[in-house]
Amino acid sequence: MKYVSTRGDKKRLTASQSVLKGIAADGGLYVPRKIPQAYLTPAELSGFNYNAHALWLMGHYFKNDYTPAELVKCVDSAYNSQNFSAPGIVNVTESGDAAFLELYHGKTLAFKDMALSILPHLMSVALKKVSKPKTQVILTATSGDTGVSALEGFKNVEGTKIIVFYPENGVSVIQKQHMITQSGGNIRVVGVRGNFDDAQSEVKRIFLDEKLNKQLEADGYEFSSANSINTGRLIPQIVYYFYAYSQLVKGGMSPDTPVNFIVPTGNFGNILAGCYAKKMGLPINKLICASNENKVLFDYFETGVFDSNREFHLTSSPSMDILVPSNFERLVYHLAGPEDDLGRMLANLSGKQKFKMPVPEDFVGFYATEAEVRAAIKKVFDTHGYLIDPHTAVAYVAHEKYGARPGERNVIVSTASPYKFAKTVMSSIDEKYAAFDDFSLLEKMSELTNTHVPAPLAGLRDKEILHPAVADISGMKNAVINWYNAC
Ligand SMILES: *Cc1c(COP(=O)(O)O)cnc(C)c1O
Repeated sequence: MKYVSTRGDKKRLTASQSVLKGIAADGGLYVPRKIPQAYLTPAELSGFNYNAHALWLMGHYFKNDYTPAELVKCVDSAYNSQNFSAPGIVNVTESGDAAFLELYHGKTLAFKDMALSILPHLMSVALKKVSKPKTQVILTATSGDTGVSALEGFKNVEGTKIIVFYPENGVSVIQKQHMITQSGGNIRVVGVRGNFDDAQSEVKRIFLDEKLNKQLEADGYEFSSANSINTGRLIPQIVYYFYAYSQLVKGGMSPDTPVNFIVPTGNFGNILAGCYAKKMGLPINKLICASNENKVLFDYFETGVFDSNREFHLTSSPSMDILVPSNFERLVYHLAGPEDDLGRMLANLSGKQKFKMPVPEDFVGFYATEAEVRAAIKKVFDTHGYLIDPHTAVAYVAHEKYGARPGERNVIVSTASPYKFAKTVMSSIDEKYAAFDDFSLLEKMSELTNTHVPAPLAGLRDKEILHPAVADISGMKNAVINWYNAC
């Protein structure tokens, strides 16, 4: 199994090399040369637990590189009861006319934990395969959840240092508190005066800065990425699509039932993993791409025109406030075909772009306004006593717009715990909660729903602030240099 760049660089990498490199030298993203076919059906898989699914699936992508024993170690170090509070790692919960695939039972209460709990282990093993390993300097731009989850995953991991940039005013109070209080000897967190797209573009530029790369190399370091462009994040995310399907089959669903996955989408990483699952042979009917008011993808799926030149909106689902979804480049590549010049040209999606491309049949897009998100949170709670976070609510709105069609099954991918976005969730249920701050609302949410405040959030308010730094976009490179020189 070899990996190539979306932008035509002829170099072929092993899985472990692509995990370490993160982004290709030509600025492209790594993709498997060929998407493998799955040999087990959901019915056959329904006897497997989560780790067995992960091992089976990842074996297809990492074979002849990671040994089976190495993969077992990575999988078991990531998916265990220390890192995940749900006994099954993820839950599939039926509520009303949909199933919810809850991916938020990890340490930072968002779906990013699904991949970021295993990426550090995949990197550690990859480093052992290199003759003169360099310390990995992990550069990360975050719209909130990636930062929290990457810091948790990489803290004190030998052979790594991690610096996270987040938009100063673009993440929730709780996400920010999580990041700026994060301990660990190899960690730095910096707020940025700008939005996520600006921060992500600048991180890409720093990544490709030749002079800086030479200087790092001379000192025994190299850049790597924990962003969703890393193949070590994309591939572990394919697992839960298979797992969800086989759980539904285990619960009595006929294996032939067409299942639609409704995915709250930002950087297009989660839904792309679903697309890989479908290409591998999982009988998915539609991948339903749910956007918030930053609806660049909805417009593309409606009209075939991708246009990221537009106004940016801050919404209640900050992890989806993205106008340049970086993983979209991989979809373009797979649609156009590896040998297609057009594909390579279109794939160059850094910066804002406008182009036309046929819409693949596998996808449908919908979007939710802020008012629809709030109404959905209230409706699901009032009718089913089930709480969803604003990102999941965007998907719920898409579920309603697509409809529960006879003979089909809709699975809503739930990407964050409602506790993480307490203010939006509680004030959607009842205006009276709008007067309280995020932290007091944790208790109120606990009382209202008869559930416990998740351990990672209890006590967060009183933690010491360790990372007060804020920089302009133009100051990000210096922040990296200063930090790296200091340690
Ligand atoms: C990251 C994130 C998303 C968006 O996922 P992508 O892979 O970037 O499309 C949605 N919801 C939550 C809670 C997230 O953290």
